[in-house]
Amino acid sequence: MKIITMIVLIALGLGGESFFEQARIYRGVKALEVRLSSPEVANGHTLLFECIPKTIDTVFNLTVARDTTALILYAHPTEPSGAFSVLVGIPYYAKLRSDTIHVEWTEMDRIYDRSLPFQIVRGPYKSEVIRGVPQSRVTPSAADYRRIARERRIIGEAYIAIRDSVLMDATFSYPVEKQTITSEYGTRRVFNGQLRSYHGGLDLRAYEGTPIYAAQSGTVKLSQNLFYSGNHVLIEHGMGIHSSYSHMSKMYVKHGDWVEKGQRLGLSGATGRVTAAHLHWTVNINGVGVSPLQCFEVLNTLFKTPNAALRKEKR
Ligand SMILES: [Zn+2]
Repeated sequence: MKIITMIVLIALGLGGESFFEQARIYRGVKALEVRLSSPEVANGHTLLFECIPKTIDTVFNLTVARDTTALILYAHPTEPSGAFSVLVGIPYYAKLRSDTIHVEWTEMDRIYDRSLPFQIVRGPYKSEVIRGVPQSRVTPSAADYRRIARERRIIGEAYIAIRDSVLMDATFSYPVEKQTITSEYGTRRVFNGQLRSYHGGLDLRAYEGTPIYAAQSGTVKLSQNLFYSGNHVLIEHGMGIHSSYSHMSKMYVKHGDWVEKGQRLGLSGATGRVTAAHLHWTVNINGVGVSPLQCFEVLNTLFKTPNAALRKEKR
């Protein structure tokens, strides 16, 4: 039937967006509401796509793609059944360019499509100049390198999403009680005038022994000592979201545990490659490390609960 429709369109010299728009207006049906959280998104930030069918029985074969890659649709956490949401994490090193999310669906044997353009812009990141650190102190030994390689594989596997459902039922929160940011996500590390790396997490002040809490409920995917991250807990929350907590002195959860939002994961410390106790907190969207605060701000809009704490910190 689809093929016949397409042939008819070609024969009539019609097609393209204008025909579909007219068809939709003619039939008086707006079957699908699609929206992006913003027409602009910075590198290292998260974009939220929502798709809410108005007439659930008439929409079929819904696909959402970015370029040629199909995105995984997750059941929308707050809208009625049939609604979907997708988070898109923009890599820190992403090219600043125009991009598009394409939506396609079938309704009464016709294929409809919508394009939602967005622009990737430069994030609001500061630079930090790294002063000369003796090489002997930063270069790991051969045995350390073997350990780092082994751990890299373990970490990679832990980030493979196992959840296809949304586990969230409330807004995200800070993993420590007193929220003092000591190093922001995305801070550029410049050495000899060249960009060497960037800070892939958010550092929060947490003196030795400060309780660390789960920012959201989820499944513990990793709870072990790592060369760089020290005692490290990784949680999968669903919707492709992972959060991690590093450098702890004590861990109270183990691999496979279910944790509730606000549950104590451990105590802060200075384990791993650090000079002083603090919490290094990361958030990852489908394998892409993003700004935890911006990501949670976007997610929290789903629950329509203004998060005063996050707003304050953003300023
Ligand atoms: Zn850090």
